[in-house]
Amino acid sequence: MPPVSVRGTHLHRLRPVLLLTLLPAAAACSRLHPGAPAEAALPPAHNLIFILVDTLRADHLPLYGYRRDTSPNLAALGRESVLFANARSQASCTFPSVNSMLTSRSGAAFLGQPGGAMGLPAGIPGLAEILRTRGFGTHAVSASPIVRRSPGRFNPGGGFGRGFDTFQEDCVWKSADCVTDQALPHLAHDARPLLLYLHYLDPHGPYAPPADYRHRFALGQPAKDFVRQGDPNPIADWLYKHAPNPGLTAADLAHLVDLYDDEIAFFDSQLGRLLAGARAAGLLDDAIVVFAADHGEEFLEHGDVKHCHNLFDTTIRTPLLLRVPGAHPRVVAEPVSNLDIVPTVLELLTGAGGAHRSGAREDARSPPAAGPPAPAFEGRSLRPAVLGRPLAPAYQWAAQGAQRSVADGRLKLVQDLGSGRFALYDLAADPGETRDVLALRRRDFQRLRGALAAWLARTEGGPAADGLRRAAEADRRLRSVGYLDH
Ligand SMILES: [Zn+2]
Repeated sequence: MPPVSVRGTHLHRLRPVLLLTLLPAAAACSRLHPGAPAEAALPPAHNLIFILVDTLRADHLPLYGYRRDTSPNLAALGRESVLFANARSQASCTFPSVNSMLTSRSGAAFLGQPGGAMGLPAGIPGLAEILRTRGFGTHAVSASPIVRRSPGRFNPGGGFGRGFDTFQEDCVWKSADCVTDQALPHLAHDARPLLLYLHYLDPHGPYAPPADYRHRFALGQPAKDFVRQGDPNPIADWLYKHAPNPGLTAADLAHLVDLYDDEIAFFDSQLGRLLAGARAAGLLDDAIVVFAADHGEEFLEHGDVKHCHNLFDTTIRTPLLLRVPGAHPRVVAEPVSNLDIVPTVLELLTGAGGAHRSGAREDARSPPAAGPPAPAFEGRSLRPAVLGRPLAPAYQWAAQGAQRSVADGRLKLVQDLGSGRFALYDLAADPGETRDVLALRRRDFQRLRGALAAWLARTEGGPAADGLRRAAEADRRLRSVGYLDH
């Protein structure tokens, strides 16, 4: 594939941090391609490798401007992919963020299930179920204690295996080498088209990379055991459970971040091994590769640690790459959501995307579906962006606990349903979300508040109190199984 090109400049020759400064230009470039390849120019893709990395912040990747080279193999994949520079997840917790991603439905569809179930509810088809009805062999390898088929301590109901021919759980809580080991045999697949869903967990706490990768970025020997061991739980216990102050210093916090980066580097080494295997098997010639994350990780930037606590970009701005055979690598700056992944890959794989129902203001004129009717999705197909065409403006929605947010790529409005309070952040001028500009941007506030209220009414089906009740129940359930605490 040709290198990523922005106005004649080959991005792979530029330092990563420079790439970020070029993103607006890249977006403009994508809008300036009226002669982009016709749809028929894309060769058919028959297979899908869906790589999800739990707890991976976009801004800790050089592809997204990070100063450290945490992920050279991902950078190489990025040079062959359409990179979405402005992607967000729909929650900052695995459940329901992964549910949203695999079904293109907002978290409200999964909160408040009977018995506190976390899996995909009956009646909401997931990606694997949809593809299996279209003749795909469907396989998953998951290291997540939440995203699993069978009941476990952190997900007593299981429930993510529906639609998968095989769902490998031997790697739960294990490192990326386990997931890649289990994945490689699937690459020598039979004649059936393949869906391979791989759920890596390395950046999730505790930040304890294998020994070979332990000191790439984390140097020195901090005095505190929990810091040396990369365990953020004593801080979480102090913040959320009234445990004693662990006496965290700035150097301690920096060491935890260093270990988090070491985890990313180890994952990246195994990503390289996976992709080399796929390439050797000839699979990359006609396989779409999705690279995504369910949420990020907070290191006290906004007073929290771990995830599941807020909707700042530390925990909902995630990487999103689509490697599509025949598509030119490019950077897309328009805001997109993990909700968009399933409609996109279905359209690219089968030529039939789902009906756009809400969330996007784009006109939905998908080609007629062949085979079973496409389900209604809340996301929209990003196929135009893959082809270098502009995307219609769309909002990015997220929900966590009592918080709800809407972003339009420039601004993000967060509402706490419990207190009713709002905060507005200028993502362009203040990417760290340190200043509430609500008082200065009243017109934008009114616009986003109206959009958020309409989305809440559409997805949560009634007064905000209902959504709050369901969110509180979901949080209570997660705490009861220890997920939010450990
Ligand atoms: Zn997660």
